[in-house]
Amino acid sequence: MPTTLDPKLKRALADRIRYYNELGIYDFYRRDFSPREATFQIQPEERDPLPRAKAVVASPKPELIDISASPESSISDPVQALLAIREDIGDCTRCRLAKQGRKQIVFGVGNPRAELMFIGEAPGADEDQQGEPFVGRAGQLLNNMIKAMGLQREEIYIANIIKCRPPGNRTPERDECETCSPFLMRQIATIKPKAIVALGAVAAKTLLAINAPMLELRGKWYDFRGTKLAVTYHPAFLLRDPRQKKETWKDLQMVMKDLGLVAPAKSPE
Ligand code: URA
Repeated sequence: MPTTLDPKLKRALADRIRYYNELGIYDFYRRDFSPREATFQIQPEERDPLPRAKAVVASPKPELIDISASPESSISDPVQALLAIREDIGDCTRCRLAKQGRKQIVFGVGNPRAELMFIGEAPGADEDQQGEPFVGRAGQLLNNMIKAMGLQREEIYIANIIKCRPPGNRTPERDECETCSPFLMRQIATIKPKAIVALGAVAAKTLLAINAPMLELRGKWYDFRGTKLAVTYHPAFLLRDPRQKKETWKDLQMVMKDLGLVAPAKSPE
C-alpha cells in the first residue's frame, strides 16, 4: 500500500474532514481498506445506519462551529448578523446550481430570534420564484403544521439545507449540500434556536451526518451542537402519503412538549 497520498486525494480528504468538522464531527475511524471503497464516491443511501446516529445522540458537542472568522461574528444583533451572512453569500456561484436555472437565492425567513427552526431540503419552483422557503403546496402544509402547534409562521425561522433550486427539483447532490450548508450553520449559530426540526431525510442526514432510514431517524431527540434536533417527515412526502401525518404529529408534539407549547386537541389536516 502506498505510504504517501496522491495530492488530489489528500486535498479531497482535507475538504471532507473540514466539512465533517463543520458539522461537529471530530472522531473518525478507519475501516479496512477495500478497493471498492477507495473510489471516494458519494454513497447515496444506507451505508452506515444507526451506530453513528447513536453516537451523535450520545456525544453532544456544543459550540463546535467556529464563526469567529465570519463577518457576523462581531455583530450581536441577530437581524444584522443574518444580513451579514446574506451579504457574504452574495450572488453565489459557489456550486453548479448557479448556472442551472435558479432565479434567486432563497436565504431563509422568519424571526431572527426564533426558538424553533424548521429546516427543509431545497427551494422548489415556487420558492425560487418568490425567494422564500416553503411557499408552495408543501409550504401550505407546513403552515398548517405550524398553526397546529399553536405557533405562527412569523414566530419561527424556516430555511433549507441548500439555497438554490436544483433543476427539476431533483435531490441536492452531496457536494452542493457541502458547499451551501455552512451558511445554514451560521444562520443557526446566529439565531440560536432552542429546537430544530429537520424536515425529511436530506435535512436530517446533512445536519446529523448519518445515514439511516426516516423510520429510524424520527421520533427522538438528537444533539446538534448543543441544540436539540428532531427529525420528521417532509411536508412534500406527507402530500404523497397523508397517512404519515399522524406520525409527524407525534414528532411535533414531542417538540411542543419540550418548548412548553400547549398541544391543541386535534392533529393537523
Ligand atoms: N421543499 C423544501 O424542502 N424546501 C422548500 O423551501 C420548499 C419545498
